[in-house]
Amino acid sequence: MSEKNSVIETLLSYEEDEQLRKLLIKVKKGELGAWEEYKLRKLEKRVIQSGYISEEDKKLIEKLSIELLMSRNLGKQIIYEDLDELRCRYPIKGAGTTREDIDKLKEEGKGLAGIITTSIQNRIYSNKYSNRPDANTGVPLSVLIASYGVEGDTNIIMVQACLSVLGFPIGDSGPNKNGVDGDWGARSKAAVRAYQQMKGLEATGKESSDLAKSLLDSVKNGETIDTILDKYLQNPPMSKAGLIQLPEIGKGYIIVDNYVHAKTGENWGTPETVKSLLSLAEKWAEYDDSLLRFNDLSIEIGGKFGPHGTHHNGKYVDIRLIRKDGGLGDTNIYHDTYDKVKTKELVSLLIEDPNVEKILFNDVDIIREFVNNENGVKIMKYPGHDDHLHVQFKR
Ligand SMILES: [Zn+2]
Repeated sequence: MSEKNSVIETLLSYEEDEQLRKLLIKVKKGELGAWEEYKLRKLEKRVIQSGYISEEDKKLIEKLSIELLMSRNLGKQIIYEDLDELRCRYPIKGAGTTREDIDKLKEEGKGLAGIITTSIQNRIYSNKYSNRPDANTGVPLSVLIASYGVEGDTNIIMVQACLSVLGFPIGDSGPNKNGVDGDWGARSKAAVRAYQQMKGLEATGKESSDLAKSLLDSVKNGETIDTILDKYLQNPPMSKAGLIQLPEIGKGYIIVDNYVHAKTGENWGTPETVKSLLSLAEKWAEYDDSLLRFNDLSIEIGGKFGPHGTHHNGKYVDIRLIRKDGGLGDTNIYHDTYDKVKTKELVSLLIEDPNVEKILFNDVDIIREFVNNENGVKIMKYPGHDDHLHVQFKR
């Protein structure tokens, strides 16, 4: 069957308008005049480009709307095949996405990202095509796309998808390689705590339906990790010792398990030191996909703690060495996993920061490289610093 006849068959299968039916039958018999030809083209256009919805598709959209609604209420996942189906039936003018395109994208593991346009989004959410009473407040399509094809606990998936859409670096696991994998792992927990810290919520690191709703609101309001961080930094809660919290994970870094973290789940620094670390991590994110791993800063009330001789005033941080595999585990300068080249890059970024005063670290090759740096940052060996950089800031 030619493409045109296939469209006609489809139209005839649901068209109830008598006049149009007559026209369509004429077309089928090949008895078409110029006017009919014109009218048919208009009709085809309406079907293909203007969202002319068949009864069957109305039902599909209704079903999809219900799925969206349920998904929003965290009871159930959307049936993605239906979304594909609609996308194929009502391709966007000029975009020309075919079923083959979609299959190919799926094969490449790209999910639906990039092919669901605002236009189809509007169409799905539009009251005109949806029976859903609350058509404008469903789960954002970006979140659904981010969770495309992921299996597991719906609440966890929804939380992870929101974190991913907001830009939290939760990794590249899962079918869409965006960290949305249904497993409640270290990065998800860290990202939730960071979000809670920045939003002034209790930093539980636990997923809950309240948390999912808050994250969904952030996505709907067009927030990103950057806007959330900016807002947090405008007026961060300050401790009596004059310290603020570094959010647990952000662009280019994560705070990994350490003394403070294990005891209190908090990491505090002077506002200037926290800003230096955030800016270091942002530069790092441009250079490499791995995350910098910060250990202890200071505790909320200041003063000495744990094994540290310093770290008493918010101007100190320990940074783990860069690993060749980008992993979050420890390494040291003698170990196979130690990445000397990237660690050297990290040291050079630290030395560029005028707020950095001193670095203790035991890789003599790197010390030799930077010992005479023009910014006057002191860098030297010190016992116990085979496996991390101890960095002291000025302010
Ligand atoms: Zn230290």
